[in-house]
Amino acid sequence: MLFTAALSVLALAGCSAAPTSSGTGGTSAPAQPSSAQPSAAQLRELLAARADAVLAGSAAGVAATEAPGAATAVGGAATSLPWAQWSYLEPVVLGSRDGLVAVRATLGFRLDGDAAATSEHVQLTVRDDGGRWRVVSERTDGAGAAVWELGDVDWAGGDGVSVVSVGGAGSARTLLAAAEQAQRAVTRWWPSSSTGQPVVVVVPGSDELAGGLGRTPASLDGLGAVTVTGPAIDGHAASRVWLARDVVRGLDPGELQVLLRHELLHAASGSPGRAGVPLWLSEGVAEQAGWQAVRVGPQVWARDLLAAVRRDGAPAGLPADADFSGAGLRAAYAGAHLAAEVLDEGSGRGAARDVLRRVLDGEDLDSALRSVSGAGVERLVERWRERAGSLAAGAAGTIEP
Ligand SMILES: [Zn+2]
Repeated sequence: MLFTAALSVLALAGCSAAPTSSGTGGTSAPAQPSSAQPSAAQLRELLAARADAVLAGSAAGVAATEAPGAATAVGGAATSLPWAQWSYLEPVVLGSRDGLVAVRATLGFRLDGDAAATSEHVQLTVRDDGGRWRVVSERTDGAGAAVWELGDVDWAGGDGVSVVSVGGAGSARTLLAAAEQAQRAVTRWWPSSSTGQPVVVVVPGSDELAGGLGRTPASLDGLGAVTVTGPAIDGHAASRVWLARDVVRGLDPGELQVLLRHELLHAASGSPGRAGVPLWLSEGVAEQAGWQAVRVGPQVWARDLLAAVRRDGAPAGLPADADFSGAGLRAAYAGAHLAAEVLDEGSGRGAARDVLRRVLDGEDLDSALRSVSGAGVERLVERWRERAGSLAAGAAGTIEP
């Protein structure tokens, strides 16, 4: 009974790949020339002082770079986070009007623990404030809002993972212990030195999740968790696990572990958004990592697949990427998980994980399967269909919980 509700929530909380945008939006500069524009040196000086204040966590320091009445999220939320890098690169004056000068720059930022920096274009307006140039407004210009632009943030750092909570004062610390437990388990299952420390970002609900990811709430298709990595720099990328707080609240501790371990496995493997990696493989291994948190068997975790098999017969093939959204999403996750378990059953615990590692390293899927299990995709599909059929017929099978 425990998992009747849990499964529906977890299915809603499945995840999808969404590479981080580095920001490509265009802008229209305020028209027309004006007499007063900052020199390149003045602009660099202003932005360097602003960056120093953010790095120092000084809201007052940021405010000192702003004109009276300026409205930016930088002095509030951004100074609450532990930055290893915050720099305005290549600022360019776009134009000016009525004393306001539009500036575009690239903001490079990296939280403590991130494996690599992320960059976004930013739009600023500045004005001459009694002989000193000051910032009037600043916003990022990426596909989604930056986390400090979504509301007040609260941060808690821990062992191998940290939590940023948006709009929930004090709530980062309450999720940290669960995130640390999940991260320790994932690190044992998937040791990795290149992905840095993942950050779990908790936002109030699906609207904020969509806002942060630059997607519409409808396009999230009910997803309550999304892992984002990249863009990769020299093979390293910052990882963010985005969660909706209204989903997390509905989970008991075991269910929360399943969700966190699934997402943190994506972060550790850097699999989201990687071309050439079939979703059945990356999601199947993530499901294995997740469900290791609780001892339940395939009659529970594969329930939606087994119901579909009883209704329509065994599917012709493994779930296609397109199956991981829409009505068949739950059965696709279950099918992916079962494929990973079938691989492990034939070739030893961790076989599916090893196939994923090889494919992420650029090996062809069929070749990776043959290296690990001695047979290619065709044989896996046969065994997977047989196992789905026997489980649907009620056989307990030999798959361990
Ligand atoms: Zn996933």
